[in-house]
Amino acid sequence: MQICNAQPVESATPKARRTTQVDVCWGSRVVSVGGNAPVRVQSMTNTDTVDAIGTAIQVKELALAGSELVRITVNTPEAAAAVPYVREQLDRMGIDVPLIGDFHYNGHRLLTDYPACAEALSKYRINPGNVGKGDKHDRQFGQMIDVAMRWNKPVRIGVNWGSLDQELLAHFMDQNSARKKPWDARQVMYEALITSATESAQRALEMGMRRDQIILSCKVSGVQDLISVYRELARRSDHALHLGLTEAGMGTKGTVASATALSILLQEGIGDTVRVSLTPQPGESRTQEVLVASELLQALGLRSFVPSVTACPGCGRTTSTTFQELAKQIDDFLRAQMPVWRKQYPGVEALRVAVMGCIVNGPGESKHADIGISLPGSGEVPAAPVFIDGEKRLTLRGSDIANQFQSIVETYIENRFGAQRVAESA
Ligand code: SF4
Repeated sequence: MQICNAQPVESATPKARRTTQVDVCWGSRVVSVGGNAPVRVQSMTNTDTVDAIGTAIQVKELALAGSELVRITVNTPEAAAAVPYVREQLDRMGIDVPLIGDFHYNGHRLLTDYPACAEALSKYRINPGNVGKGDKHDRQFGQMIDVAMRWNKPVRIGVNWGSLDQELLAHFMDQNSARKKPWDARQVMYEALITSATESAQRALEMGMRRDQIILSCKVSGVQDLISVYRELARRSDHALHLGLTEAGMGTKGTVASATALSILLQEGIGDTVRVSLTPQPGESRTQEVLVASELLQALGLRSFVPSVTACPGCGRTTSTTFQELAKQIDDFLRAQMPVWRKQYPGVEALRVAVMGCIVNGPGESKHADIGISLPGSGEVPAAPVFIDGEKRLTLRGSDIANQFQSIVETYIENRFGAQRVAESA
């Protein structure tokens, strides 16, 4: 075979974009956002914060699912009074995830009147579109920044097109109508969103807030709008950015829309923390948004949260659902073990497992994984070769293949990652 003269294909990797690092802390737990820190997963509860126990339980579920920051609504005096109890419950349960308070309209009063709430929260979300109108706007915004500086807390200045500062938008509309060639109404709205975030950040800096206390966001619900706004926001500012498609919707639609918009921006290095704003389907766990965000970051190669299971879709060559069941069993098993394994087996989240349906791609894909199994397709010998570290090691047979394979995976993890732990602690 002749040596090919073509240039090597360039590997696709997310670009790096340096932003100012913001540390969000609770006790000894520090979750850094921006700078060199990994892109963080965050989520938000949908419980009534006044129900401190119910809220703490949901925060715990979200944290155990992998949410590194959890936001809670602080909308009334009762909710503000409940925040320290939510924190206390979490501390008792050994959950040190930082809590973020989401404030609208009355945040200046709640943070001032309930100092224990201001102290228990690790970060405040301020929406510049919802801090008051006219001369109240600057005063009330300033009051929230003052409280944040007093307690040494970071803030997210979070603009949302559903609650964009209408006075600012009207100002840009007026300016636009005076242009010889007026901009498209959408472009005016983009400008108002970005300006609302950057000018609010500038005001906070002028008041004495440190740059490493400010995260920005400009959320919209359209994929192309989000990409346009964040590209420009990232161009104009070096603040850490919280990224999310607001009101993404339910199920497949919300998942696909969020993944599409966020992936494009993350690949460009834009976004330091993400939230997938899914509307839970009836009966669905709130943790679904955390799973989607984690999978998204893992699929892009930005983070590793759980071992990945590669499985083929199946086709006419598979006569039974055995391989689907096995893929699900292994996937569920790995996820269920992760809260314990994360501490017990450092690095286990990078494990790659393959569960394949027949001989066509089964052995090849299994060899690419750390550990893989190729189940027999229709007409094939009823045997399932198992590949470990690229080599065929054994063949499973019989009706109990799923459990046999699961215990092989468990032993592999113990040998490989348990040994790593011993070596690291030696
Ligand atoms: S690996 Fe085999 S069973 Fe799976 S999709 Fe390919 S041909 Fe079909």
